Amino acid sequence: MGARPLLNRRLAGLGTTIFAEMSALATATGAINLGQGFPDTDGPAEIAEAAARAIREGRGNQYPPGPGIPELRTAIAEHQQRFYGLGYDPDTEVLVTAGATEAIAAAMLALLEPGDEVIAFEPFYDSYAACIAMAGATRVPLTLRAPDFRPDLDLLRSLVTPRTRLLLLNTPHNPTGTVLTPDELTAIAELAVERDLLVVTDEVYEHLVFSGAHHPIAALPGMRERTVSISSAGKTFSFTGWKVGWVTATPELVSTVRTAKQYLTYVSAGPFQYAVAEALRLPDAYYADFRTDLLRKRDLLDAGLRSAGFEVYEPQGTYFITTDITPFGEKDGYAFCRALPARCGVVAVPNSVFYDDPDAGRSQVRFTFCKRLDVISAAVEGLTAGLADLRHQ
Ligand SMILES: *Cc1c(COP(=O)(O)O)cnc(C)c1O
Repeated sequence: MGARPLLNRRLAGLGTTIFAEMSALATATGAINLGQGFPDTDGPAEIAEAAARAIREGRGNQYPPGPGIPELRTAIAEHQQRFYGLGYDPDTEVLVTAGATEAIAAAMLALLEPGDEVIAFEPFYDSYAACIAMAGATRVPLTLRAPDFRPDLDLLRSLVTPRTRLLLLNTPHNPTGTVLTPDELTAIAELAVERDLLVVTDEVYEHLVFSGAHHPIAALPGMRERTVSISSAGKTFSFTGWKVGWVTATPELVSTVRTAKQYLTYVSAGPFQYAVAEALRLPDAYYADFRTDLLRKRDLLDAGLRSAGFEVYEPQGTYFITTDITPFGEKDGYAFCRALPARCGVVAVPNSVFYDDPDAGRSQVRFTFCKRLDVISAAVEGLTAGLADLRHQ
C-alpha cells in the first residue's frame, strides 16, 4: 500500500482498548483480573432460564422489531416510572440498543455535526472519545480531580462556547465512582437550559450507588425534552455479554438516535430482550441484594488496598475503585500495571488512558470489585505480599 495510513484521521490514536490489552495480560500470566469490569458470577438463574426458554420457544430467534420488542420497551418504561417517576411512552420514547455502547455511538453519530463540541467528564469511559471522534466532533474535557473528583461547575460554565452541542454525562461515574448530587445536577441542568444544550447521560450504574442516591437528570425542570438517557442490562443484572441497552427520550430524540442505530446493528439480542424484560420486573429485593452484595465487595477491596499501601479514593457508586500509587514511590500507573501481574499476580488498569492529558491521571490505577469475595481476598493477599518491599521504602 502507499504512504497513506490505513486508519483514517478521525480514529488515529485510538489503538486497542486498554481492556483488551490488560485482559490478554491476565490470560497470558494467569493473574487475577481486576482490570476489566465484568462479574465472575452470572446474574439470576431464572433470568438465564428465561433467555434459554425464549430461544427454545422461538421468540426472538429472527430479527426482532427495529425499536426493540414491545415487551421490553414496556418493561423499560415501567422501570423508569417505578424507580424515578419518569413517564415514557413505550412505543415512541424507548429504543432498545446493542448495549449502552451502541446507544452512545448512535447518539453521537446522529446528534453531532463535524466541528461541534462535546463537554464530557474526564477521565472518560473509553468509548466516548472514539464515538465523538467518529462523529467528527471535538471533545472538551471537564477534568474531575483527586481526591474528591467533583465537577467544577464554574469551570463547566466557562467551557461552553457557541460550538457546544451537548453535555455527555456519566453518573455514577466510571472510573472514579463519583455520583452527581442533586445540587450538581440542578446546576448542570440550568446551564443546559440557559445555553440550549442537549444532554446525553450514561447511567449504566444506576443501581450501584452506595452513598446518596442516583438521580436522573431527565427528571429536572426543562430537561426531559433535551435529555437522551442511556442505560443497560449488563451491569444491573450481571449479564454483560448479552449487550441489551436502551435509550429513553422524547419521540423526536428517540427517532433521531434510531436513524443512526438502524444502520449500525439494525437489531440485536432477540431472545435476550425477552429475558431482560423479565429482569427489569424483578422485585425490589433483587435490586437491594445486588447493591448489598457489591457494597460488601467494595468494602473488602477498599480495606485491602488501603492495608496494602495504596491511597484509596472510596467510590460512591459503580464497581470500580480508583487508587493512587504515589505511596509506593511510583509515578507511572501504566508501568505499574504492566509489572503488576509478575509482581503480585493481579491485573489492574492505569487511569491515564481515560484522560486526554495523561499527566492528570498518571499515578492513578483502577481496580474492579465485581468479583467473588475469595477472589478479592486472594488479590489483596498478592498485592500485600508483592508490594511489601515498596511499601517499606
Ligand atoms: C460498561 C459500561 C458501558 C457499556 O455498557 P454495555 O451495555 O455493555 O454496552 C457504558 N458506559 C459505562 C460508563 C460503562 O462502564
